[in-house]
Amino acid sequence: MTKPDVSVVIPVYNEEAGLASLFARLYPALDALGRSYEVVFVNDGSRDRSAALLREQHGKRPDVTRVILFNGNFGQHLAIMAGFEHAGGRCVVTLDADLQNPPEEIGLLVAEMDKGYDYIGTIRKMRQDTLFRRLASRLMNQTRERITRIRMTDQGCMMRGYSRGIVEAINACHEVNTFLPALGYTFATRPTEIEVSHEERAAGESKYSLYSLIRLNFDLVTAFSLVPLQLFSLVGIGISLLSIVFVVFLAIRRLIVGPEAEGLFTLFSIAFFLIGITLFGIGLLGEYVGRIYQQVRQRPRFLIQAILEPQVVRVVSVAQNDTAEPTLPSVYTGSERP
Ligand code: UDP
Ligand code: MG
Repeated sequence: MTKPDVSVVIPVYNEEAGLASLFARLYPALDALGRSYEVVFVNDGSRDRSAALLREQHGKRPDVTRVILFNGNFGQHLAIMAGFEHAGGRCVVTLDADLQNPPEEIGLLVAEMDKGYDYIGTIRKMRQDTLFRRLASRLMNQTRERITRIRMTDQGCMMRGYSRGIVEAINACHEVNTFLPALGYTFATRPTEIEVSHEERAAGESKYSLYSLIRLNFDLVTAFSLVPLQLFSLVGIGISLLSIVFVVFLAIRRLIVGPEAEGLFTLFSIAFFLIGITLFGIGLLGEYVGRIYQQVRQRPRFLIQAILEPQVVRVVSVAQNDTAEPTLPSVYTGSERP
């Protein structure tokens, strides 16, 4: 198959409720672009009927559909990375399966790419998420702006455009714990941002629990910044200096006032405070060390069960008269490779 102009990569995890409406909007929107395109779905180990629905859709539009079926649930960002490895487009757009960002706006991203930008970031207009999610996002955005070199207004919006060059760079990375939009940004030479619409989830529910959101944000921070560790050593230096002053003070006091056992609880509180800081530091160190450990083991980042490749659709029977429509094969089986 020749390389398409646009590839759309969509991670899918337990999205059976919304897939039909996604297909119904996505394909017409892409057809309307008037460009060659492919859609790369990555089923991230869904436990519902998502994989079956994707297979069915592959049968309906085999010319432009590729389906990667994972063996288990490896997470949204790794699913997109697998999609990138199999996407051939000049312009690669990522989109969530839940229709929170309208597929009709893919054309806006492609138009920016045509202007020569290589990374199209997005800002959600009137974001339709819970207040808690919006506040937490704002806090994380501010933190990220301070401690990394990644400059983006809205880091959480996953509908984004990446040029071929950036996708190749991401493919060369083999990172296990990463935050894809930020990773792409680090390779961008001409990034830009545009506004896109945002709707409430069409069907199903968010796949991110509070816990997995916290984990994801740790990935974002640890993958792109050492500032937390450096900050910690600064705090450590500060406390050591203070404790030297304290020891000198106690020594002088011992000489002048003599021995004493009072102020025990003050000492306890200082000790607990220091123990708290130490534990936090060890935990933080663990976040980095754990990631290094996962990376150096070099286990496969994800396991692919099967790939349904796009097929060149051949006309199997051409009717005698000119007006009849060519018919597609009645039974279509996608080629599968392990
Ligand atoms: N997703 C995935 N694997 C996961 C979690 C999510 O592939 O482990 C997909 C999910 O199907 C959706 C996208 O990632 O297409 C974003 O997930 P979701 O809409 O639940 O996130 P939110 O919008 O709440 O941040
Ligand atoms: Mg969503």
